[in-house]
Amino acid sequence: MKIIIQKFGGTSVSSQDRRTMVTEKVSVAIKNGFMPVVVVSAMGRNGDPYATDTLLSLIDTSFKNGNLQATDLLMSCGEIISTVVMSNDLNKKNIKAVPLLGGQAGIITDNNFSNASVLRVESQKLLEILNDGKVPVVAGFQGLSEHGYLTTLGRGGSDVTASLLGSALKAEKVEIYTDVDGIMTADPRVVKNAALIEAISYSEVYQFADQGAKVIHPRAVKIAAMANIPLVIKNTLNQSKGTLISNSDNDGSINLIEGITQMDNRIQIKFSASNNEGNENYANILDILAENKISIDLINVFPKESIFTIDRTDLAKFNEVIKSLNLKHTYEENCSKISLIGNKIAGKPGVMAKIIKTLRNENIDVLQTADSHETIWCLVKSEFASKAINSLHNEFCTTKPTK
Ligand code: ADP
Ligand code: MG
Repeated sequence: MKIIIQKFGGTSVSSQDRRTMVTEKVSVAIKNGFMPVVVVSAMGRNGDPYATDTLLSLIDTSFKNGNLQATDLLMSCGEIISTVVMSNDLNKKNIKAVPLLGGQAGIITDNNFSNASVLRVESQKLLEILNDGKVPVVAGFQGLSEHGYLTTLGRGGSDVTASLLGSALKAEKVEIYTDVDGIMTADPRVVKNAALIEAISYSEVYQFADQGAKVIHPRAVKIAAMANIPLVIKNTLNQSKGTLISNSDNDGSINLIEGITQMDNRIQIKFSASNNEGNENYANILDILAENKISIDLINVFPKESIFTIDRTDLAKFNEVIKSLNLKHTYEENCSKISLIGNKIAGKPGVMAKIIKTLRNENIDVLQTADSHETIWCLVKSEFASKAINSLHNEFCTTKPTK
């Protein structure tokens, strides 16, 4: 059985015209001898009637916070509508489709509403439908808890659904259809001349995804990598070959840096010994933050100072903890973490120097840096993020890949 997973994002299913293009992609897969399993997101973006954010706006924040199970039930409605509408469109093309909830497709999760972890995928029903010559159309982003509640898998979770089903069904490949041609050297909304990356490794794409590129969910990359299933990102609206993500490091690109991405809403925090003399909590600050589940990164510890960043969503909790311990800190709000990604940078001298020089030439202050074998990070003020990415992209990513 040659199974293919085809996942279509919110903009891909937002209008009749676009859904017609979706049915075309499904019918081509069938013609090519595949048995497709379709995964759909909610139709459209915030403001569109059935988009997830629009649904969320129907209830109060205070209700949401106290009623996580109800909120997940509401949030999962968009995909449920989508799966029935898409099935209707496929039926019009004589493709027999069966709309399914995530739970009906066998996705069983824990009870961690809004960010549930998948415990297992029970694939019998999907296999029965496929054996019947029909196309399952699965509501993305959702599962069913062992207690029988609808759960959601975190924003962007339809990508996760696609990879999970790909892994459970041992699919030939997982195709993620979206509104751009594939993984680009930078977000095309930020860098106008961003180029398509034709082939790239799982680990590099994981970095892209984990460091802010919205185009694919990091967990989806991890699941596909573990199952060693090729993941292809494509544009619903054209015939672009897209980006092939696989285990191969030999992707044909000659650029040292494959691409650049950004994560906004970072706050840089500094604790100095001189400001906290006599406070015994100062020495344990990193432990205290960990105990309070406040995630930090870009961590530099010096004999008389500790510097790191937190996400803005953790600021209220951070302030509460720090105040209760009477610790003193300084901070820089509205920062963006820029990530330059490429597995060829490992051990190459001079890359950081060139990055700093490029940003200095643009009069952009680098607030902090860090590096790993595959990524170099720079923290800058968010107001300069776009300029920084564009200049770094010009410097590092404009050579055409050889292929
Ligand atoms: P979907 O609704 O199909 O899941 P998303 O909005 O989640 O689509 O992801 C697609 C968007 O990701 C693109 O419109 C693009 O602006 C953004 N994006 C960010 N970084 C990149 C990148 N490096 N390559 C391609 N797209 C990117
Ligand atoms: Mg998405």
